[in-house]
Amino acid sequence: MRVFTTTLEIQQYLADLRNKGLSAGFVATMGALHQGHLSLIQQAKKDNDLVICSIFVNPTQFNDPADLEKYPRPIAHDTQMLEQAGCDILFNPEVTEMYADNEHWHLALGEIEHLLEGKFRPGHYQGVTQVVYKLFNILKPNTAYFGQKDYQQVMVITKMVELLNLPVKLIMCPILREEDGLAMSSRNIHLTAEDRLHSLILSKTLNWVKKNFDSNKIADLRDKATEAINAEDGVSLEYFELVDGDSLHAANQGTKNVVALVAARVGKTRLIDNVLIN
Ligand code: AMP
Repeated sequence: MRVFTTTLEIQQYLADLRNKGLSAGFVATMGALHQGHLSLIQQAKKDNDLVICSIFVNPTQFNDPADLEKYPRPIAHDTQMLEQAGCDILFNPEVTEMYADNEHWHLALGEIEHLLEGKFRPGHYQGVTQVVYKLFNILKPNTAYFGQKDYQQVMVITKMVELLNLPVKLIMCPILREEDGLAMSSRNIHLTAEDRLHSLILSKTLNWVKKNFDSNKIADLRDKATEAINAEDGVSLEYFELVDGDSLHAANQGTKNVVALVAARVGKTRLIDNVLIN
């Protein structure tokens, strides 16, 4: 695997490969890799001649400085995992390589950036689009792979690609889970043994809602799900919503593409999860 830390070097290297007609699949990450990340790498390998992965803990998407500070950064282990997974190219820039001082970015994403996650993490999606735009621009992948785990993020990036006419195809990949149902996440490392048990209420409730879904009882399902999560010790619910998967507006009887999304703090760790209902 070739590892690059500067934009200039990776751009030169990739330009040569592009001239040879090779297709590139791209997986953007913040590191602390797990099987969920590797499943995206695997999909990218299947579809492309080359796989590029980035590891960059993007400061502009953190609205909580403490969260940024404690974000895990096991780069040696990550590099090893990527080698083993057959990743071809790693881009691992410093913050100064990606951002000038006092750099500002705003993209008119519309209401989508203010719903759900946007309400609880103001500015988060501006930071996400800023870094993903830069990465697309530097790496020019043919296809980029994102996890359904961050469902709203996929929607936001899709919107950016449409607004800016970016020449990249996006693929959403399924959520990888631990055996007991917890969605894999780099943040799970912060869960204590107790938190880890309490965290299961999220995936359990999502599954329950999927199993019992009835388009005539959406409000009732939402209330019961909210109640179940609120009743769990050590878990503080931020939202549980059943929405239209295209607009993120509350689902109703006629909604064809319903997604249930949840965000909660478990102990000190904020977790998100979701399930596609139909
Ligand atoms: P992150 O490093 O958390 O920014 O995630 C990098 C990419 O991996 C994003 O597209 C995530 O949606 C995706 N991802 C994170 N967790 C999972 C998971 N459990 N299953 C599948 N993809 C995931």
